[in-house]
Amino acid sequence: GKPPMPGSMTRYYEIRRRADTVIIQLPEKVRYIIGSIRKAGYEAFAVGGCIRDSVLGREPDDWDITTSATPRQVKGMFGHTIDTGIQHGTVTVMLEREGFEVTTYRIDGKYEDGRHPKEVTFTPSLFEDLKRRDFTINAMAYNDEAGLVDVFGGIDDIKRKVIRCVGEPKERFGEDALRMMRAVRFSGQLGYEIEANTAGAIRELNTNLKYVSAERIQTELVKLVTSPHPEKLRLAYETGITQVILPEFDICMKTDQNNPHHCYKVGEHILKSMEEIEPDKMLRLAMLFHDIGKPKKITLDEKGIHHFHGHPAVSSEMARDILKRLKFDNRTIYFVTKLVKYHDYDVKPDPAGVRRAILKTGEDIFPLLFQVKAADIRAQSAYMREEKEEKLKAVYQVYHQIISEKQCVSLKAKAEEIVAQGQCFSLKDLAVTGKDLIEETGMQAGPELGEALKKLLDFVVEDPSRNKREILLKAVKEFQ
Ligand code: ATP
Ligand code: MG
Repeated sequence: GKPPMPGSMTRYYEIRRRADTVIIQLPEKVRYIIGSIRKAGYEAFAVGGCIRDSVLGREPDDWDITTSATPRQVKGMFGHTIDTGIQHGTVTVMLEREGFEVTTYRIDGKYEDGRHPKEVTFTPSLFEDLKRRDFTINAMAYNDEAGLVDVFGGIDDIKRKVIRCVGEPKERFGEDALRMMRAVRFSGQLGYEIEANTAGAIRELNTNLKYVSAERIQTELVKLVTSPHPEKLRLAYETGITQVILPEFDICMKTDQNNPHHCYKVGEHILKSMEEIEPDKMLRLAMLFHDIGKPKKITLDEKGIHHFHGHPAVSSEMARDILKRLKFDNRTIYFVTKLVKYHDYDVKPDPAGVRRAILKTGEDIFPLLFQVKAADIRAQSAYMREEKEEKLKAVYQVYHQIISEKQCVSLKAKAEEIVAQGQCFSLKDLAVTGKDLIEETGMQAGPELGEALKKLLDFVVEDPSRNKREILLKAVKEFQ
């Protein structure tokens, strides 16, 4: 007779696993899609990240569906579909404006630079489709009829809290080097260890990450640093990943800080500071880079103490280069480089000092510095910690006095409020213009005029009640 279809493998596991009692509450629309495909005579399962997250009791971001039906057949079954990646077998089924990716069972060729394998082959076997997936915890499928299909021990690995490749790790990382970063990223998101063979293969193959596009690396790096365990970046260091994608960090891991304010090497301090700040992309990246330039600025005094004078500016420039290299957007580069540049800026805890700091750092950046500075302090030694925290608190109280007690929706709104209150933080808010100075004092247009305006701004920042035309015109004469 005919040789068994590879698909029969699926049925075997369906039967074997039916005794399992894992029940996943599929969303109504997912049940509808799976049901429609099955009624047309094909197999369909929810698969991958959504099953992993369901088992973990986490709300899945999106529900992916895998099926034995071809894309053309899937398109024939639903009223509204979009060809998202039809050459890779993916059709998006639209149900009341909500999209669900339905992908035909496939075997992947080698991944190129992009997000998808260069060539794919469709297969009638669920087993083959699960086999092409990266990790055991990501290679489970489920539908109401078959229950959980877990042929690679995903549930066991969830119980053991390990990230393990499906199949031979070296082969799998050879097909797609990004999987090495995904391993570390999942370890950060779930707090899992990377299984020994899988970690060993990363140590051997980490240099292949050179050929992965910056965009894909960026995505994984952001998911790692904004995860509940950003310190798992240490695992990326230990397995040689950062050597390839972030060599600046490796140097930090080897740089001592013999200084009473510190108790860790620069790299460990960075990891700790990321743990100490909320999982926001800008804030976590700011902590990742805040001291990245320290190795370049290290000096040793006669008492054997290390100093790092000028490291914020150098760190900020390095952050810019690294973020550009990883193809980050301009908004992220702007926020992160500024937070890094001013993370150590000394704010005097009085109204003039706070206004000066807002002028210097920017209305958008200043409020974020409280979190950055607090995290930095908590990642240092206990030496003078209370004093540092007291001072930061004092600055915060002054800042709040300045911006009034009104409830604000966002930090941006807070910043706008400062300007609205006539607290004056930029040249355009001055009660005199360059034109006024030319007309009233006989000054000429040119660099001196600019200088005079800047001095007037400092003068007003010290005391906003000075922001009156007559006072400023009088003051500018005295400056000369
Ligand atoms: P998240 O959506 O939280 O980032 P995820 O596991 O859902 O995590 P996706 O990128 O959405 O990740 O991919 C969905 C599924 O596709 C994964 O669970 C995995 O089974 C498979 N997959 C994704 N990327 C790869 C890859 N590079 N190599 C092999 N399989 C992959
Ligand atoms: Mg997903």
